Amino acid sequence: MSQQPTHSLPSYLNADDLGPWGIYLEQIERVTPYLGSLSKWVETLKRPKRVLMVDVPIELDNGTIAHFEGYRVQHNTSRGPGKGGIRFHQDVTLSEVMALSGWMSIKCAAVNVPFGGAKGGIRINPHEHSQREVERVARRYIHEVRPIIGPNQDIPAPDVNTNGQTMAWMMDAYSQLVGTTTPGIVTGKPISLGGSLGRVEATGRGVFVTGVEAAKDKGIDLNGARVVVQGFGNVGGTAARLFHESGSKVIAVQDHTGTIFNEQGLDVPAVLQHVADTGGVAGAPNAEAIDPASFWQIENEFLIPAALENQITADNAHSLRTKILIEGANGPTTPEADDILSDKGVWIIPDVIANAGGVTVSYFEWAQNFSSYFWDEDLINQRLEAMMRAAYRDNAAVAAQHHVSLRTAAFITACTRILEARNIRGLYP
Ligand code: NAD
Repeated sequence: MSQQPTHSLPSYLNADDLGPWGIYLEQIERVTPYLGSLSKWVETLKRPKRVLMVDVPIELDNGTIAHFEGYRVQHNTSRGPGKGGIRFHQDVTLSEVMALSGWMSIKCAAVNVPFGGAKGGIRINPHEHSQREVERVARRYIHEVRPIIGPNQDIPAPDVNTNGQTMAWMMDAYSQLVGTTTPGIVTGKPISLGGSLGRVEATGRGVFVTGVEAAKDKGIDLNGARVVVQGFGNVGGTAARLFHESGSKVIAVQDHTGTIFNEQGLDVPAVLQHVADTGGVAGAPNAEAIDPASFWQIENEFLIPAALENQITADNAHSLRTKILIEGANGPTTPEADDILSDKGVWIIPDVIANAGGVTVSYFEWAQNFSSYFWDEDLINQRLEAMMRAAYRDNAAVAAQHHVSLRTAAFITACTRILEARNIRGLYP
């Protein structure tokens, strides 16, 4: 009797070109030796629980019919319902959605939010379509993935090119389908539909809170500490403001319009106002415009990439002069850069911990929707800060125990939590 290989890839993947899913698999393989007896379950993490591909047909404004390919992947639901955003982008692939769903499982478990991981995507460039066409796509997509989503099953949220308005259409479509207004089907909703106070600032606040915890460990005084931020939007702008209010000096900021610098510390509220007025940091008051290439060489205590992925690479990692790198963006540091920085003694707070404030307040939004009882903003921030502090502390303890980076520790913590749940639940049927 031939034995079934336990490590085979799902047949819908091309083993020669695994794309982002291959990176995710490598990360799981790297932490498997730390999982002890739970490693017998590790294959669970190497294949998504459920993959749904759907056709999303809509009538365009000109009367013709267009078809878009959509996906919803539930990576793991051992600890709770699936959770993850829906991305509208012309280049979305199944491999990418699978990897993002795996990283959501890791993020939720690493910070102990009681969700599993999921993700969705539609291959569409929304900028080439009218608002009405995008609305039809959002509604039809929900109609198609309806059999596998639900407030207790899988809860979508915004991601690239989707926002509160998209969530409102999706919540409405789902509610029409089931015949009951169901706010808890998505998070990231507008406040008027049951969205949560504090959600907009949550990710930046989490970046700040984890940075404060790391500063305690590394003996860095926040007062007067130099902070450098790439990306001055939702995440970077909020984190910069909170550091500024704590007495730190935000000395350089880079966004898509330019790079600004002031050795004495930028006037952060004035820069935020300038961005609100003009759309970018270029030309902000009391700031010197500097060459974008010199941005990564500025000496600082806290460096916060909060814009795009793959910004810190083998090319610029050697020249970085920072003590604590806080990953506000998803995937800003390549694996080679990660090794270079660790060798240089830079302490990295990885994205799965540093930017988990957003999913944490999404969890609060979902909990508030279930009870139809809404918390005030102070309570939300208090609970967010407590969870982020605990997440940092738990993972820092694992890092110290195994003498590993905080990123490896986060994967160990997350995989352990997920597989403990899997193990104690057992296999059924
Ligand atoms: P945002 O759109 O509000 O801001 C993005 C910022 O990046 C802007 O300041 C923009 O000018 C800047 N930027 C864009 N291209 C750039 C370039 N080439 N060089 C330098 N700066 C550039 O987005 P956001 O919500 O703040 O998200 C930022 C990052 O954080 C993304 O990687 C996102 O995936 C991640 N993230 C966001 C959240 C959230 O809750 N918003 C949660 C987790 C992770």
